[in-house]
Amino acid sequence: MQRFETHTVHAGREDFVRLRVHAPPIDLSTTYPVTDLEVGTASFDALVAGDAHASNPIYARLYNPTVARTENAIATLEGTEACVAYGSGMAALTAVLLVARARGNHVLAVRPLYGTADHLLDSGLLGLCTEFVRADEIAARIRPETALIVIETPANPTLDLVDIRAVVAAAGAVPVLVDSTFATPVLQNPITLGARYVLHSATKFLGGHGDVIAGVVACAEVDAKALRTMRATTGALLHPLAAFLLHRGLPTLALRVERAQSNAVILAARLANHAAVACAHYPGLGNVRNAHLLGSQMRGPGTLISIDLRGGHDAASAVMRAVRLITPAVSLGSVDSLIQHPAGLTHRVVSAENQAACGITPGLLRLSVGIEHVEDLWSDLDQALAAVPVTQLAAAA
Ligand SMILES: *Cc1c(COP(=O)(O)O)cnc(C)c1O
Repeated sequence: MQRFETHTVHAGREDFVRLRVHAPPIDLSTTYPVTDLEVGTASFDALVAGDAHASNPIYARLYNPTVARTENAIATLEGTEACVAYGSGMAALTAVLLVARARGNHVLAVRPLYGTADHLLDSGLLGLCTEFVRADEIAARIRPETALIVIETPANPTLDLVDIRAVVAAAGAVPVLVDSTFATPVLQNPITLGARYVLHSATKFLGGHGDVIAGVVACAEVDAKALRTMRATTGALLHPLAAFLLHRGLPTLALRVERAQSNAVILAARLANHAAVACAHYPGLGNVRNAHLLGSQMRGPGTLISIDLRGGHDAASAVMRAVRLITPAVSLGSVDSLIQHPAGLTHRVVSAENQAACGITPGLLRLSVGIEHVEDLWSDLDQALAAVPVTQLAAAA
């Protein structure tokens, strides 16, 4: 049995020796010659029914070998039978919701969630009725028509942890989807804790270089079949060039997460002691919900830190303007560090009332720590925090 780090380098490359290649070949075909109609018809039927592959790929909305290799690699990393890739994390979530819609129109979700995921669920856009509950209310709120339970852990942007085992136990027969984007398969594998679907915005750590938008769902083959049929029907594909970039990011996944995490541990401790910071939320500091799950559910504290500034919105705005090395930008999980303001940007689509209820304050900044030298990151944060006007510190004191 090979270990995780070895899988990050070799998974999805099993056919390379047979193909006599060393780098993943990119197949850009939109259509494939059907020289035997009977074989073509059988292949078409199999792919539309959601089979992972067939003797003839037929058409690129049904199958693409470059995408399939990337999917196989991520399934290996998550320890699932299968993985289905999409053009974005939101397309991946939408696909799971559309498949769930056939079972019932009621969804339970635990806040906070990624802002647009919250918006998609809250809007009723897909004909689903979503009830937002606390994790400990799930068992009581399940109805016969409850088709899916959606959680995110660590949650965006508060870094609260949700107890996956407890949610799965409360869910009974209802499938649980875990958005594991912030954890990556380096730090947590929700399938082994009983989740039915593991979702990643692969735009973040899996791609890892800020140059590809993608989403993946890792799950059992039976569920992957339904997702592939939905994808073939609705067309939310991952392009093979994007799949190539995503696959290319994987060999360094463990290295990137480990380095960013060791940086984050140091930065979180220093930020927590900074005069301008009221609170640095970080699982490793034990000050997020369910921090005790560190070590059992999650193998490390991760690479994201949220800081609540004493000076509120104006202080956050000043820091966003003052950073020089760290890029003031949304997104996360790239090799470079990014900082952003959830209330003003990523969670803008969540009402002010719901923002407040889940701890998204006007002074909150979310820092995605990259793999730069930690002292260079600290210098930048320190000088940016010094830009917070003293009057604001005094006013908040
Ligand atoms: C970014 C993100 C998403 C959405 O993914 P896209 O690739 O931007 O569509 C979903 N969940 C989490 C936790 C994210 O960070």
